[in-house]
Amino acid sequence: MLADKDRIFANIYGLDDPFLAGARKRGNWDGTKKILKKGREQIVEDIKNSGLRGRGGAGFSTGMKWSFMPKEVGDRPHYLVINADEGEPGTCKDREIIRHDPHTLIEGALIASFAMGAHTAYCYVRGEFYRETEVLQRAVDEAYEAGLIGENACGSGYKFDFYIHLGAGAYICGEETALIESLEGKKGQPRLKPPFPANVGVFGCPTTVNNVESIAVVPEIMRRGPEWFAGIGKPNNTGTKLFNISGHVNTPCTVEEEMGIPLKELIEKHAGGVRGSWDNLLGVIPGGASVPVLNKEQCDTVTMDYDALRELRSGLGTAAVMVMDKSTDIVRAITRLSAFYKHESCGQCTPCREGTGWMWRMMERICKGEATLEEIDLLEQVTYQVEGHTICALGDAAAWPIQGLIRTFRPEMERRITQPATNTDQAA
Ligand code: SF4
Repeated sequence: MLADKDRIFANIYGLDDPFLAGARKRGNWDGTKKILKKGREQIVEDIKNSGLRGRGGAGFSTGMKWSFMPKEVGDRPHYLVINADEGEPGTCKDREIIRHDPHTLIEGALIASFAMGAHTAYCYVRGEFYRETEVLQRAVDEAYEAGLIGENACGSGYKFDFYIHLGAGAYICGEETALIESLEGKKGQPRLKPPFPANVGVFGCPTTVNNVESIAVVPEIMRRGPEWFAGIGKPNNTGTKLFNISGHVNTPCTVEEEMGIPLKELIEKHAGGVRGSWDNLLGVIPGGASVPVLNKEQCDTVTMDYDALRELRSGLGTAAVMVMDKSTDIVRAITRLSAFYKHESCGQCTPCREGTGWMWRMMERICKGEATLEEIDLLEQVTYQVEGHTICALGDAAAWPIQGLIRTFRPEMERRITQPATNTDQAA
């Protein structure tokens, strides 16, 4: 269990002042100028050595991503874009950072931008987070007033500007290239890669897109040293992590814990346990709606890290843990997710545009007991035709929950078809 002294987000519950006076008391903006003095290369090296992996879902090394930016700034300015679009169902961690600990993000944006030669950071915030954005804007304003950012950020001589941009509610704008398109004022549709954003990003310039949490942990890593961060968690899965625990638990919460904590411990220590006891557990979606569901046997022993969850053919994703007890209609629940992905497909690629509709309609048929047993295999084939055949990962995200359902709850799908009279088909 994570020791209090190792917590990065000291105000994640919002019990203290989120603004500058409170932030300074918690140690934010302490020695930022000294951190910048380390120089671009050393900062990138330290973040690489900390083992920090992107907290937005993909889990790619943050330091490595930064190192893909051109070493010298040429004719085209460099940009940092912070992804605060947080639309993954079940996920609400970046929101807590923005509204309760916004200075961790602003300070992190300065350090990260400096490390990549960027003088401007854009923070693309989910449009529904209007009140949260007001808090963030006030924190940005006071950082400007205090000289922490602006013409001479923290007295370092480095110019740094921070702009907030509100999205308009499309899930797909959380995909980095769709986010860039949207930021440019266009329809938020993903771009084909290559070219990658580090080469051609926002306004055609070198850009790195990072998740809020990935950026907000940077100042503490730099202050305490990469070894400190690398010493928490497990090899290749280091550091602290914000987990959102929702669903059929007694006290749903967002909590900072060490990477690699057993799922059972996470739920029992922080979320008051599963409603009705652990034995009443049916399954858990461990990382936001797009990762496959785990059954109880898997939940008994799995640890919450990228590698352990990948071994079970699921994923850590955004670490949004959705707990379902035995009252859950699991087939209906996954059908609801299929409807979500069908609705959010941007429609550019045929396998996603048509496939998400096919998958949803087949799931509906199974739910209602109108399908045949063979259709389960057909449905699985369709998921493999969508997965990996699209421009962006939304196609995969739509396919994986269904694949997970077939792997772990196939008998329940079959029961619905063979005994339709027993279907409750309640809304999940
Ligand atoms: Fe759009 Fe879906 Fe293709 Fe992504 S996979 S670009 S959401 S159609």
